Amino acid sequence: MSQIKAIYPGSFDPVTYGHLDVIHRAARMFDEVTVCVLYNKAKKTSLFSVDERVKMLEDVTRDIPNVRVDSYYGLLIDYADKIGAHVSIRGLRAVTDFEYELQIAQTNKLLSHGRVDTVFLTTSLEYAYLSSSSVKEIASFNGDISVCVPPEIEQKVREKYNAINAGKSGDTK
Ligand code: ADP
Repeated sequence: MSQIKAIYPGSFDPVTYGHLDVIHRAARMFDEVTVCVLYNKAKKTSLFSVDERVKMLEDVTRDIPNVRVDSYYGLLIDYADKIGAHVSIRGLRAVTDFEYELQIAQTNKLLSHGRVDTVFLTTSLEYAYLSSSSVKEIASFNGDISVCVPPEIEQKVREKYNAINAGKSGDTK
């Protein structure tokens, strides 16, 4: 029987416990899951480079044998063709995610002539509030992000803001 490959695409800037929960659940459902950091032109500024995000994802998924991490500059459907995957996994937290996600799912299905379908995993309730943006907002004010991200990611986020703040140390505002 052929292996079912799935892609979990996103920005992962940085990966959170919410993403990890989706990754673990997807890894139980599919033979192989590729977490793919896609360059997102709509998101003009990111905290971490694509390579840094890939490295962090590799660190936190090291123990899941059927998960691999990659990055891609281009359309998800082209990446799917490249690796022979037919499933895109996306997470849904709240109704507010739905319209955006539905649009992406339908576009990918149309552009791929039906080859790429999207499977939605609803968030586990304890992570429903979690997003990479809120992690960055909290961390930028030196708040506690230990409930949002694994310890090694917390460390990287801290280092990043320390570097940013050190660069701004001459600012008065
Ligand atoms: P984007 O691709 O929009 O930049 P992200 O990298 O933030 O999105 O997230 C990738 C995917 O993971 C999206 O489908 C998003 O809805 C989902 N996701 C993010 N946080 C959570 C969470 N806490 N629970 C479930 N799904 C989530």
